[in-house]
Amino acid sequence: LGIRGQLKQHQIVVCVRKRPLNRREQRERELDVITVPTKDSLVVHEPRKHVNLVKFLENHNFRFDYTFNEECSNAMVYEYTARPLVRHVFEGGMATCFAYGQTGSGKTHTMGGQFTGKQQNPRDGIYAMAAVDVFDNLRQTKYVRLGLTVTCCFFEIYGSRVYDLLMPGKPQLRVLEDGHQVVQVVGLTEKAVKATSDVLTLLELGNTVRTSGQTSANAKSSRSHAVFQIVLRYTKNNRLHGKFSLIDLAGNERGADNSSADRLTRLEAAEINKSLLALKECIRALGRQSAHVPFRGSKLTQVLRDSFIGGVKVKTCMIAMISPGLNSVEHTLNTLRYADRVKEL
Ligand code: ADP
Ligand code: MG
Repeated sequence: LGIRGQLKQHQIVVCVRKRPLNRREQRERELDVITVPTKDSLVVHEPRKHVNLVKFLENHNFRFDYTFNEECSNAMVYEYTARPLVRHVFEGGMATCFAYGQTGSGKTHTMGGQFTGKQQNPRDGIYAMAAVDVFDNLRQTKYVRLGLTVTCCFFEIYGSRVYDLLMPGKPQLRVLEDGHQVVQVVGLTEKAVKATSDVLTLLELGNTVRTSGQTSANAKSSRSHAVFQIVLRYTKNNRLHGKFSLIDLAGNERGADNSSADRLTRLEAAEINKSLLALKECIRALGRQSAHVPFRGSKLTQVLRDSFIGGVKVKTCMIAMISPGLNSVEHTLNTLRYADRVKEL
């Protein structure tokens, strides 16, 4: 890991992860149009035609804080994205880590863990790796002194509705904002956890609740945002010390594009677009240290309000996931342009 050098200490870190061609893409000999020449750059080689029909490759160059090629493991991605945020949360900060990208690009693989067949191994995902680190930190003397309790929440935002994933039956929850702009998800389950194994149990429960009643694992879940939170509170008075929100965002493919296997209804697509747009604006406001953060733009940004408004105590990491194949090049360019806009100015 040392070869990647110094970890960035920015408020906003934006990275890209390229997944390998999958078995089907390999079988169909789909072209890999992405190269990752250095640890912080990436090139999209887009096949184009001149007016005279002569073919050429148009190269789109991008730079980010970190770029991960198809050989990078979840552990490697974790090291440069979420791990620095765990420390920040122990220092009393608020942190968010977003997985962004089209359906099938690797968001759930990265956050929730590797699939072997239909089964997902949550141990290998960023959620669980963050939990392992949290419990490691908790044993360090400087943090033992704080007397902290760890709790977890897991919920889903589908359209403008919020559902608790730690409750069987997935009840819908109300989001309230009081006169002091404090946002509260009423009745959200916050479970105390004592060890990584407790967190893994919660993740399994949440994933089962999230995907139950769905025809395929990727059907509805790709249209909702899943928010997993690790909360640190002072044991003596239950006051908040820090909070880490890890978000597996809804697929960013446009509704107008019907070529995706998983068709979005217009309305759902409009909602998703709205929330991803609002998210971008909130992160940009954070980067500019702007006093006005447009968190009311969507349910997603509203429930994450306390993680956007807090000055220097707030850190964000976005991992933009991309598919390597030629058939995804439009979506990939959209994803990279979005990520580019989110970067600190
Ligand atoms: P998303 O959540 O973005 O829709 P998934 O995480 O479900 O996408 O990934 C789609 C498929 O690609 C899954 O079968 C997953 O195992 C595989 N995949 C994703 N990223 C990687 C990776 N970095 N290495 C190997 N397989 C991957
Ligand atoms: Mg997914």
